Amino acid sequence: MALTDLKSLDKSSLREFMKNEGLPAFRAGQLLHWMYEKNITVIGEITEFSKTLRENLSQKAFISTLRVKEMLTSRDGTEKYLFELDDGENFIESVLIPADEDQANDDQNQKTKTPRLTLCISSQAGCAAGCLFCLTGKLGLIRNLTSREIVEQVLSVQRHITPRKITNIVFMGMGEPLNNIENVADALRILTELVHFSKRRITVSTSGIVPGILKLPEMAPMVNLAVSLNAATDETRNHIMPINRRYGLPSLMQALRQFPVPSRGRITFEYVLLGGINDSLADARSLVKLLHGIPSKVNLIPFNRHEGSEFHAPSAQKVLAFQKALLDSGCTAIIRKSKGADILAACGQLKAKYELKK
Ligand code: SF4
Repeated sequence: MALTDLKSLDKSSLREFMKNEGLPAFRAGQLLHWMYEKNITVIGEITEFSKTLRENLSQKAFISTLRVKEMLTSRDGTEKYLFELDDGENFIESVLIPADEDQANDDQNQKTKTPRLTLCISSQAGCAAGCLFCLTGKLGLIRNLTSREIVEQVLSVQRHITPRKITNIVFMGMGEPLNNIENVADALRILTELVHFSKRRITVSTSGIVPGILKLPEMAPMVNLAVSLNAATDETRNHIMPINRRYGLPSLMQALRQFPVPSRGRITFEYVLLGGINDSLADARSLVKLLHGIPSKVNLIPFNRHEGSEFHAPSAQKVLAFQKALLDSGCTAIIRKSKGADILAACGQLKAKYELKK
């Protein structure tokens, strides 16, 4: 008889499973606590259960995990995890990013005791959005991740780094989360209700899937939203992000103006600066105009050139001038350094390297 994966069962199926084993419903609650809060992976470790119960349960069920295929640490402290999915053929990535100086200062100002440690997780294997500057986009969509595979990235990395603690989660790894919104919403529910991760420390990043932006507040209330914008005109955005031909800037901005942002909250706009494509002062001025009236923060990310890319890094001078134009117009704009360049930490790079080696 095949063993049951306890992580594949939701609360009510778990209760049903326990009932079929002749066990009371409260055992399901205990099991959830041990699997998600205590983050154990072996039934034998549940010391709240008697030895006999642990042995009996181990003969019927197991607790699944994701296998770490490769782990790399960068000189700047960024850690990259390549996970093998259950099918043994597909791989996904998560990247653990320590706070940069700006964030560390921010944290100190807010008297946060735990240093910020952000885990960037994947929502799909591959991606259909096809952004031209992204290696994952070149892979195309392989499949949606299940909610278990999304949550397990967090639990696996947390086990690996204990006693350090993941403080923030961002859906900015492989895939477009809003193209897998059902499983992402389910994963968010598990992360907040069972792992007890704060909603305010979770950010979902989208390339601009308008129907998903409209549905997200209802399906996953209170999580933060980030938009990978990268251009302030339809002409440039159509060129570098094909998704813009489907959901152009007017409909995207309209959806964002409706998005419920909590008081003192902001929508984060990611803007990858591509040399000669979107880094002019005219681009900066268009961006200011576009974001007018939206509580926002702009992260400027100078492009990190990778092999085979048609794009170039912008000059340092252009990056500073772009930021100054935003700041002078009253926008919050922060230059983010590309982290983990020596371990291929940009979106999809480790997975793409692995694909090429196979
Ligand atoms: S940047 Fe994000 S949305 Fe665009 S192709 Fe890459 S993974 Fe997909």
